[in-house]
Amino acid sequence: MLPDFRLRQREYLLEISRAMTARLDLSSLLELTLQSAVEILAGQAGLITLHRQDGSFAPYASIGLPPTTLALFEPLWHDLNFGSEKSQRATADISLRLALASQAAGVILRQVVALPLEIGEEVIGYIFIFRTRGVGFSNNDQQVLSAFANQAAIAVHNARLYQEVSAEHERLTAIIENSGDGVMILTPDRLIQTWNKALSHLTGITAEEAIGRPCYTLLNLRTSQGLSVCHTTCPITHPPTDGRLSAEGIHQRADGLAITLADNYSPQINKEGRVTQIIANVRDMTRLREAEGLKQTLLSVISHELKTPVSIIKGYAGTLARQDANWDKATLADGLAVIEEEADHLDRLITNLLEASRLQAGGLKLRLSYVDLADLATLAVDNLQATTQSHTLTVSFPEDFPLVLGDYERLREVLTNLIGNAIKYSPDGGQIKVIGELGKNETARLTVSDQGIGIPTADHERIFERFYRVDNGLARQTPGTGLGLFLVKAVIEAHGGRVSVKSAPGKGSLFLIELPIAHE
Ligand code: ADP
Repeated sequence: MLPDFRLRQREYLLEISRAMTARLDLSSLLELTLQSAVEILAGQAGLITLHRQDGSFAPYASIGLPPTTLALFEPLWHDLNFGSEKSQRATADISLRLALASQAAGVILRQVVALPLEIGEEVIGYIFIFRTRGVGFSNNDQQVLSAFANQAAIAVHNARLYQEVSAEHERLTAIIENSGDGVMILTPDRLIQTWNKALSHLTGITAEEAIGRPCYTLLNLRTSQGLSVCHTTCPITHPPTDGRLSAEGIHQRADGLAITLADNYSPQINKEGRVTQIIANVRDMTRLREAEGLKQTLLSVISHELKTPVSIIKGYAGTLARQDANWDKATLADGLAVIEEEADHLDRLITNLLEASRLQAGGLKLRLSYVDLADLATLAVDNLQATTQSHTLTVSFPEDFPLVLGDYERLREVLTNLIGNAIKYSPDGGQIKVIGELGKNETARLTVSDQGIGIPTADHERIFERFYRVDNGLARQTPGTGLGLFLVKAVIEAHGGRVSVKSAPGKGSLFLIELPIAHE
């Protein structure tokens, strides 16, 4: 049968190992080890010091010592050398050190036993057990202590490994989490394991919602014709012959926004050649694709819209200039009027294109002054009435209509665009009224109404988008860029105002502008 203390020692060591596998933190593991060692060696106090990065040792766990005095025990471990004949030399030397240190700390400690904590050849710390009275520690005590010293060393070793692994894990997680691109990590059967911040931001789907679900249900990418990219050409399930593991498509967010995403996949392959996981980088291509689309539209608008008036001007100018013809005055005047009208049209077109590109390049800068909208409307109506005989343009403003603070030239462009549209989209002529009235909350209201083809309700929002034109027969035949109302909205909103439309097909249209009144 084992002696009693051996049994207890075993029990203690077993408890410590259990605690170790339960992943108690290092401090509590060392305290548990120290406590057990003090008890089994019938001591009253104990101390564990650990090696620090600067090469020195410092107390890490203690029992039975006033915490404020711990630093005073430094002589105990300072340059402590167990040498080759470890036990005797160290014990003789260490009793002396204890006498000095305990005196300095004002604590009565009479006996000490100490052992280094070692990992391989490296001394990573020391364990000390003290008695305040009674007999000194025996060789046997030292042997008992060595089992605890080993446990403490293993605990420190494990803690270090654990720290290294978790630091590395944290570093990798931080890289993935803070990457500017969306990153997801998938299992070979496309279940989401990791979903980073950028991806949540991009898609509006949180990591909690995403993890564990198949990527093709969350990010069901589609082509612009609505075909599912994920179900038909996913490069994970249908590896392409050119080896490029990427996919691009439109993702419909829950908030209704459609974004274009491009995924690049890198499969991680183990030694046996099996895919263990797939890392996917997800990029937002919406702006790029939009810009490409706009560039295309812009090119076709410019080539189509600019070419028509230029060829009309060239045709008339060439005809009028013919040497062999002798044009009468009326024909000359008519021809020149067409040239002037087309030149005006070109001018408006170029102004709109320039304004739209300025807007894109960095917002609108307004040159503010007090503007009389009644004057401005009369001027615009007079100019445009000269371009049509089938329309009757009228202006009506109440007396002493208040001024607004605004950019005169830009507001003139706004009115020219609205009245110009009213003429363009009333092919059968009719009345076009520009009316000013006082609105609620200190606003000036200005409406431009026509009796033209009208606009379906579904298009009321979209006509203010850049390049958007209603898809009807007339719009296709009528020259236009789809920029006019986009600029109207941008200019009015830059003035702190609003623009809206009331219209129905065949019932004419009414555009309403509300602008804040100026306080002089
Ligand atoms: P554009 O007239 O150059 O096409 P706009 O941005 O001024 O561009 O107008 C956008 C679209 O809104 C037009 O193409 C047309 O379909 C529609 N629209 C604008 N004003 C009217 C109007 N007064 N009546 C009917 N449709 C209109």
